[in-house]
Amino acid sequence: MTDDRSGRSVGRRALLGGIAGLTTASALGLATATTAAAATAQSRLGTGGYRVPTTLRTGYSAYGSGYVGTHSGEYAFTYNDGFYPICNAWADSYHSILRWQTANTVGVWFIGLIGVTGGSGGSNHVAGNAMDITAIYHTDGNFVDCNYSHHGYAGVTHNRRYAALAWSARKHMPEVGIVGTDPRHTNHIHAGRYKNGSASLLLSHYGASWDAWLMQYTCKAFMGAPIALDGNWGNQTESYYLQLMSRLGYAGRNPFGSTAHLQDLAHTLTAYGVIGAAI
Ligand SMILES: [Zn+2]
Repeated sequence: MTDDRSGRSVGRRALLGGIAGLTTASALGLATATTAAAATAQSRLGTGGYRVPTTLRTGYSAYGSGYVGTHSGEYAFTYNDGFYPICNAWADSYHSILRWQTANTVGVWFIGLIGVTGGSGGSNHVAGNAMDITAIYHTDGNFVDCNYSHHGYAGVTHNRRYAALAWSARKHMPEVGIVGTDPRHTNHIHAGRYKNGSASLLLSHYGASWDAWLMQYTCKAFMGAPIALDGNWGNQTESYYLQLMSRLGYAGRNPFGSTAHLQDLAHTLTAYGVIGAAI
């Protein structure tokens, strides 16, 4: 069980050294929602017989040229009751795409989060409508770590897996913040139920946008495009975006105007990314 690039061991025992101390939601006192919104504490995501544990990132450990998160044993987070099914759908998507791309041999082992409900102001988090994803581990030991996998030194396979994680979330949620969108998003991917109050999944690129960051990072990771990562969808980004769509056989499709087209694009990018494939 080694990572395919660094060869360093990421053994189950080392990663989940604290799993013997599995803590239940009730023991943590998390079963009671702390916000006015209807909310439920859950420690697993996904449906259909492959629900996988969520864990809490508790710190970091040196890995390769950087640091990856260390995660607790199974840990419950409190979700808005309307958001939880969306999170389940996200986990289902990621898991089923990974299974498909690995001839049914590899699935999701566990998901790392740093939080769901909390904070103040206008954030989706206040009512439990956003999740901050720190990592996703596959049953073969491969992983995406949101404090590591987006860096150049992590290598292109990690970069593509990081993009896959983001697109799997983007298939189901409109507000996905990757590295660059916010100084805090160097260590997690934010995935929210609403964007500027809207649940529309359509791609958007007005002014500086999180979708522009995601598309720019995607073109760089999958096509090696020497693109500026600045969150502004200008002529250069448009050109590489059209090239990406063409390579995927999606020329003429419009993820800005069709939710089906957006979800197809997100699904396909996830499929390439989970196995580190180029486009
Ligand atoms: Zn967040």
